[in-house]
Amino acid sequence: MINGESKIARLRWGMIGGGRTGQVGYKHRTGALRDGTYQLVCGAFDLDVERGREFGVNIGVASDRCYADYKELIAKETARPDGVEVVSIATPNFTHFEITKAFLEAGLHVICEKPLFFTVAECEEVRKIAEAKGLIVGVTYGFTGHPLVEQMAMMVKKGMLGDIRIVDLQYTHGFNAGDDTNASEAQKWRTNPKTSGPTFVLGDIGTHLYYLSEVVLPHLKIDKLLCDRKAFIPTREPLEDHATVLMHYDNGARGHLWVSSVDAGNMRSHRYRFVGSKASLEWTDSFPNQLSYEVQGEPVKILHHGMPYLEDETNAIDRMGALHTEGLGDSWANIYLWIAQAIDAKKRGDEAFLKTHRYPGIEAGTEGVRWLENCVRSADAGAVWVDFK
Ligand code: NAD
Repeated sequence: MINGESKIARLRWGMIGGGRTGQVGYKHRTGALRDGTYQLVCGAFDLDVERGREFGVNIGVASDRCYADYKELIAKETARPDGVEVVSIATPNFTHFEITKAFLEAGLHVICEKPLFFTVAECEEVRKIAEAKGLIVGVTYGFTGHPLVEQMAMMVKKGMLGDIRIVDLQYTHGFNAGDDTNASEAQKWRTNPKTSGPTFVLGDIGTHLYYLSEVVLPHLKIDKLLCDRKAFIPTREPLEDHATVLMHYDNGARGHLWVSSVDAGNMRSHRYRFVGSKASLEWTDSFPNQLSYEVQGEPVKILHHGMPYLEDETNAIDRMGALHTEGLGDSWANIYLWIAQAIDAKKRGDEAFLKTHRYPGIEAGTEGVRWLENCVRSADAGAVWVDFK
């Protein structure tokens, strides 16, 4: 069980974006600041410089360390003996590559939002820089720190489901069911290929589904896929506000995934069902403290977080204990802790630890972008089957 005791040196941490109006910034701070593993020392929080400075001061950052932009932050912080060591990038997609590269080149670790970049080639370029500099790139797939996600992975690993046959993934909501006439800033950049990248909902929410399925089923690889995407609001073309993806895995399993931001009225967030030859697991982010374990021919079992019947690995990352609700903030805290442990291991040169340590890093970010590239290749050829590459 995690109780906030930190066994690694506190990291000096900064943020790019995630300011007063940013949707995701507080999730980062909730995760990073939970265990005292990170200390927020600086930021370039906002495109609006004065608003960003005022915001930074209000959350406890010294005014002279709230910078106008990431370039000033790099210049000033790298000149300080107590300068920042790691930054989180919580800005729109089109800025991720440029900002990540700049920080790595300046010798700083990076934690970046998903979808990581626009292309696999960019991911590979960044991976090389990080490797050469001995730095970590973390990616905030924030839902995969829930203990019951670990439980699903352990149950699959122990063969409790039998052979995996069906992978059923859904992340849909209706927040973009209307047109974009009064779109927020966050909605405007998401529906423009110049700022969002080659996809809208596939990258925005589909990458969460894909990464979580990789965590639960690390032994399965996609052989081929077919993606059908559509913009129900035509001004969003060539991007999609809705997509369906069929996947064939290398063990013969079949996967289907749908993502949508026009699923009017749906407030159920995301849902995962993994079906094996003996049993199935179903978990949803709406009720993250419960996992449905369904053995063919037996009554359904609902497993609860924090209970002694769960795997040791599951309870090792529990924070609140049974009966007490865990939520998204706890999941993000685990993600941030795992990334901090990776940075600490990198600093100590402990490559053996890094080989077995699970955290969403550059590989996870790259695989998400690779999946998107394959989806777009299929969809734009008319929703045809393509070999996954
Ligand atoms: P947003 O539009 O709500 O906020 C973006 C913030 O970044 C704003 O504060 C803006 O002023 C600031 N900003 C923009 N460009 C900047 C720059 N060059 N320098 C400094 N600040 C800058 O966007 P959002 O919804 O918070 O999304 C940001 C990123 O987070 C996106 O990549 C998105 O895909 C991702 N995201 C991830 C999750 C998750 O669960 N991991 C959830 C939401 C968003």
